[in-house]
Amino acid sequence: MFGLMMDLPLLVTRIMRHAERNHPRQEVVAITADMPSFRYTYADCFARVRKLANALDALGTPADARVGTLAWNDHRHLELYFAIACSGRVCHTINPRLFDEQLLYIINHAEDEWLFVDPAFVPKLEELSSQCPKVKGYIVLTDAAHMPNTTLPNAMCYEELLAPHATTYEWPALDERTACGLCYTSGTTGNPKGVLYNHRSTMLLAYAQAMPDVSNLSARDCVMPIVPMFHVNAWAYPFAVTNVGGKLVFPGQRLGDAAQLTRLVNEEGVTVTAAVPTVALAILNHAREPGRTLAPLKRFAIGGSACPLTVIEEFRDRHGVEVLHAWGMTEMSPLGTLNQHTMLTAKYEGERLREHLQSAGRAIPGVELKITDDDDKELPWDGKAFGSLKVRGLWVCRDYYKLEGSGGSHADGWFTTGDVASIDEHGFMRITDRAKDVIKSGGEWISSIDLENAAVAHPMVAEAAVIGVTHPTWQERPLLVIVPERGMQPTREELLAWFEGKVAKWWIPDDVVFVENLPHTATGKISKLELRKRLQDYRFPSA
Ligand code: AMP
Repeated sequence: MFGLMMDLPLLVTRIMRHAERNHPRQEVVAITADMPSFRYTYADCFARVRKLANALDALGTPADARVGTLAWNDHRHLELYFAIACSGRVCHTINPRLFDEQLLYIINHAEDEWLFVDPAFVPKLEELSSQCPKVKGYIVLTDAAHMPNTTLPNAMCYEELLAPHATTYEWPALDERTACGLCYTSGTTGNPKGVLYNHRSTMLLAYAQAMPDVSNLSARDCVMPIVPMFHVNAWAYPFAVTNVGGKLVFPGQRLGDAAQLTRLVNEEGVTVTAAVPTVALAILNHAREPGRTLAPLKRFAIGGSACPLTVIEEFRDRHGVEVLHAWGMTEMSPLGTLNQHTMLTAKYEGERLREHLQSAGRAIPGVELKITDDDDKELPWDGKAFGSLKVRGLWVCRDYYKLEGSGGSHADGWFTTGDVASIDEHGFMRITDRAKDVIKSGGEWISSIDLENAAVAHPMVAEAAVIGVTHPTWQERPLLVIVPERGMQPTREELLAWFEGKVAKWWIPDDVVFVENLPHTATGKISKLELRKRLQDYRFPSA
């Protein structure tokens, strides 16, 4: 017997309607190249979203068309999110930091019909456009006064595109499984793969993201997503915040500018923000100077790579900010787990608490986890056993775009994440490593993440990475690569001594290499692949 409740599809369109009706005066603040301090309301925003939907129709963009964005975090990108998705098209957010060949692959694989681009990327696209035969034209995200002279075919200025159109629009009644967003994995091997989000998964995640044990969002919050809007929908914050009627602050292009981000926190009253650990660390460094504060900030979601314990503790002890250490991936839209206390863990103290804070948290309701051994047998949740982490859930990818049915990582209804993890009896998960980064020494595994976390806690270390290097006896041994704090010269011996008592003795790296910087991926993570390439000729002195 079916229930007798209204059968309304889960559409992103509902988020927009709700915000406009119930929070019309809530503010959206943004920095763009042409407008250094822009602000308007949800009512203004969604009136422009309808103009944009009319403009997309007028451009002859079919339903289902992929419409690409190469854009920073600002209000126009928010308008694109909603207008493209709610009119039945697919908003394909493109990471502009990718190499040219990856950009071309992605644009052509997605068959983007139109590209909406920040003026900053016009020169790059002028170089590439002749190799993007399917793109019908380029809309530059600016006003007429700031429109650059460009050789891009069919180039238009965003504000002029919108201007003639009506603020009324009949949103289509879509099936909730209709695709609404597309984001390619920043895959380090092979071609990037497209993850095609739908209205249903996006809507469900918008609800989950706001839950008290997740980001705890309400209409009283002011949220500044620092994580780029081209990186998995800025971790779903634009949808989740709109859904609860919170204030949104978009920091524009300078997503790593700690001074500007700190200013926005204070001037706009930002209560919640989200970024990768490197950006969080830059904010901490900036805020260490006397007289600087992050007073309004209450919660900081940090994920994308393991957040060092020192970062979590400094935010808590110096600024009263609760770090929400989260784990996820593009294939999970991206939210998988998040570390918030339970009644039990809230009582933890001392070393037990420190240990606990390094967990990436519990599965968010809607996501299931399991860990398996090499024979695919499920491992116990005892906090000790670690194995391949698998997930399934309401916003987890079933198949990659145009690779449907290829099985692989999705074979048995569970998605193999490529991460190695342990889970404790209370469901708290701890990432040991990416499967390909784990160091295999004498048949045992060493976690590069644990070693890196220990290393960055050293006061003379700015950034650290650990990679496995071949060893004649042990197969692999850990090599520590360090960027020292400015003006500091730690020695190899004092750095290696630092690990004593912090990790098992046989985990301590065999050597240290000092570098001026570490390579990062397009999403701001340390690129182990590139680092391994740089150090391919390195041999341990003892080997
Ligand atoms: P991406 O799809 O580019 O967002 O990358 C997802 C990958 O980032 C995951 O599979 C993990 O390897 C890594 N990752 C994300 N969050 C964390 C975290 N909190 N701790 C450790 N690794 C993480």
